[in-house]
Amino acid sequence: MKSTDEAIDTEVKTERVPCDLCGSDSSDDILLGRDMLHGLAGKWSVVRCRKCGLVYTNPRPTPETLASVYPPDYGPYQAQQHKRHRLRRRLQQWAMRQHWNYPPHDKSGWLGRLLSWPILILTKGQRRNFDLFPWQGQGKLLDYGCGSGGYLDRMKQWGWNVVGMDMSDQAVATCREQGFDVCRGIAPDQEFAPDSFDVVTLWHVLEHVPSPTRTLCQVNTVLKPHGKLVVALPNIDSLLARWMGIYWYPLELPRHLTHFSKTTITKMMEKAGFRVEKIYAQRYGQVTQKSFRYLTREKKKGIIAILSGRRRLCSIIERILSLNGEPPRMVIHARKI
Ligand SMILES: [Zn+2]
Repeated sequence: MKSTDEAIDTEVKTERVPCDLCGSDSSDDILLGRDMLHGLAGKWSVVRCRKCGLVYTNPRPTPETLASVYPPDYGPYQAQQHKRHRLRRRLQQWAMRQHWNYPPHDKSGWLGRLLSWPILILTKGQRRNFDLFPWQGQGKLLDYGCGSGGYLDRMKQWGWNVVGMDMSDQAVATCREQGFDVCRGIAPDQEFAPDSFDVVTLWHVLEHVPSPTRTLCQVNTVLKPHGKLVVALPNIDSLLARWMGIYWYPLELPRHLTHFSKTTITKMMEKAGFRVEKIYAQRYGQVTQKSFRYLTREKKKGIIAILSGRRRLCSIIERILSLNGEPPRMVIHARKI
């Protein structure tokens, strides 16, 4: 493999770092990729720690220059038009009150609970809509890495008392324009008092932060005792990731600094004071289709080019490739110990 120090051709300053999970600086190169999404200059090496197996980008942008690898048109920072389906929302709201104790807390007994389950599934309120879960405590929720506020908006609709946090001035400004309580920063324990939140969510954020172990410890501090942590991440151990290599869409170099597996995120959460309760697949389809598009863009691949235009087929392929229990994107529910 070509030396990554020579390969870097960019103004972004880089640094070599030890493993964030175990501290070891002994690792093996596993691939050399580049920015397939925004086409920023430079090649980036992804390594696997010999001691604990954590996969991470190394060398990587320094914390001081990290912001420069996020262009102004970076997707999660753009203001979105939030869809509102009134009937679906009313049905979901009723079902969530029956089944997940959402406010106002007036359950209608066993019949309500029985009917609510198919409604949650039919209206995609369960799992496929990845962002819904049982009511927790007093309903105070921090969305860490809130981007333009799409998730804050949705959870506010469901009755949660929402607060956002993001390192991007652009994202924070967009959220504030919509009236959300959002602070700019990366260290939640410096912004909020200990034991402040019932739930903290990190939707595809942990792979972006310089030290995910430190971030998880900070999140642990601001969560109430037995508070809930919900994290979504790409899975570097998925068959799709192994098959696609540098064309794997969620590799997203150099913005993704850590590339988690079920094993490494579980170890890291335990180290930060959490107990993992469940890990399940996030919605299917998008990752396969976008990975196929990357591959097609670079190489003429007949069948892959045809498949990359068929979202449903890509979704089926993604499900088949996930039958080994390793989906390309995963959601982890954990509890503060
Ligand atoms: Zn390690």
